[in-house]
Amino acid sequence: MSFTIHGVGVSGGIAIGRAQLVSHAQLEVAHYDIPESQVTTEKARFDAAIAQVRQDLTELADHIPPGVPAAEFEAFLNLHRMILEDSTLSEVPKQLIESMHCNAEWALKLQMETLVEQFDRVEDVYLRERKADIQQVVERVLKALLGRPGYTVRNIPEENAILVAHDLSPADVVVFKQHHFASFITDLGGATSHTAIVARSLNIPSVVALHQARTLIRENETLIVDGNHGVVIVNPDDAVLTEYKLRQEQWQLEREKLKRLTRTKSATLDSIEVDLHANIELPEDVTLAKENGATGIGLFRTEFLFLDRGDLPSEDEQFEAYRRVALEMEGMPVTVRTFDLGADKQAPDASRVAPNPALGLRAIRLCLAEPRLFHHQLRAILRASHYGKIRILIPMLSSMHEIEQVLHLIREAKESLDEGGIPYDNSVQVGGMIEIPAAALSVNMFMRKLDFVSIGTNDLIQYTLAIDRSDDSVAHLYDPLHPAVLELVSHIIRSANRVGKPVAVCGEMAGDTRLTRLLLGFGLRQFSMHPAYLLAVKQVVLKTGVSDLAGTTQRILRSHVSDRIENLLQRMNV
Ligand code: PEP
Ligand code: MG
Repeated sequence: MSFTIHGVGVSGGIAIGRAQLVSHAQLEVAHYDIPESQVTTEKARFDAAIAQVRQDLTELADHIPPGVPAAEFEAFLNLHRMILEDSTLSEVPKQLIESMHCNAEWALKLQMETLVEQFDRVEDVYLRERKADIQQVVERVLKALLGRPGYTVRNIPEENAILVAHDLSPADVVVFKQHHFASFITDLGGATSHTAIVARSLNIPSVVALHQARTLIRENETLIVDGNHGVVIVNPDDAVLTEYKLRQEQWQLEREKLKRLTRTKSATLDSIEVDLHANIELPEDVTLAKENGATGIGLFRTEFLFLDRGDLPSEDEQFEAYRRVALEMEGMPVTVRTFDLGADKQAPDASRVAPNPALGLRAIRLCLAEPRLFHHQLRAILRASHYGKIRILIPMLSSMHEIEQVLHLIREAKESLDEGGIPYDNSVQVGGMIEIPAAALSVNMFMRKLDFVSIGTNDLIQYTLAIDRSDDSVAHLYDPLHPAVLELVSHIIRSANRVGKPVAVCGEMAGDTRLTRLLLGFGLRQFSMHPAYLLAVKQVVLKTGVSDLAGTTQRILRSHVSDRIENLLQRMNV
């Protein structure tokens, strides 16, 4: 049966391929049909997984870790063994495999849900809480079935695979960077969640916030992913397939045509130069940035270097990464943002889940709370500044006091390098991200201490409108054109221009061609975005006369009605 699901497109283009359900060792599993001839094999696979968990539990009992209270640990293992051996778990799933012709993981998950439901109805609190033990045992069996912990991707002819997941963390996506999938889609996430941002850097069409995709889509079904419109078509008929193949070709043709602009100087019709810089997550992204004509790196999100690892980076490792980018950019500016860890990008050793992570110990707050971590990063950036034109960018500033602390720590890092006779660029510029409303309102004061500012519109929108950017249930409220957002963005740009300090936008607004003219009208002359958008934005710049924008820009700023803003914007873009 063919059907369509709507979500939020986060990375443009059209992909046509087959669904590859992504499973987590948590209780999210693939569901696929198996032919009659494979039922016996599937049941044997299930038995083997049970046997493996039985053996694991025995081994654990034989090697109780030191320091663990032996009696309690044994009692816990015995309970898990009992659950494992109970026929409701070790036999019923096999009956389900037989009757439903489904895979073993799915049968086990169905049976677990039935058991958990029964436990939910039990009055006795102790017994009710045992459902967590059932889930843990099931998870062990699932891991055994899947062969390894964590995400698993099977049957990969990667170029045709469209990954279908309930949710992915930014770290998961970093792992996927090593593969070459056609596309990926998720149930959760917002357009500017960090997962979406890394998805964009994979340069493949993707859609998030689909809500039910993971449940509705079956393994191997044919999918069309339209990343431009946030649409996924499941099992399309021949006519739709033909139509989308045509659209896919047109999209590729347009991309090819845009390539001709790579070396064209970015300037408006009235000869105003506009810097188009790239956002990167890893040093290897520099290649794509240069291929798309970037004249600088406006945002290097350094925390992504290490998100898929279990430990924190050493100073030397960081130095190598920053130096590589500085060298490859051959004298063009490289803006290295200090770690923006916290919220949806947890540090590898993060031990505590904040009650409200987006408002918690994130970015510069975390770095100031962990001065050693920050000191090594600052030293690494400064050391790399000897090899190119590096600038330091501080995320999530909210007060002057933080700026003063940062500048003091930079001085300390410089002194420590001086003591060791290590070279660095003593005039390295220090800028701040303006992404909290308090910072936007204090920008004039901030600029007395900072060399430049960069507007992080993703967070500025999140914090101004109180909308969690990674929460799909409020994704529809995330509005770059909200009058309050426009007011703040134009205020920051105007303020910086007035005192002659460089100002850039490095949030996703910078790569949205619908907004290019509006931002130019606000006075913006430096944009930083995902490399894939650079040429499309340049095309708009080349066709724009800034002197024509003033009237409509003022009318947009004076308007407080969304529909009117949309209309004026459309008029500006014809
Ligand atoms: C932003 O907030 O707009 C930004 C560029 O930073 P990040 O998306 O990494 O939070
Ligand atoms: Mg931000």
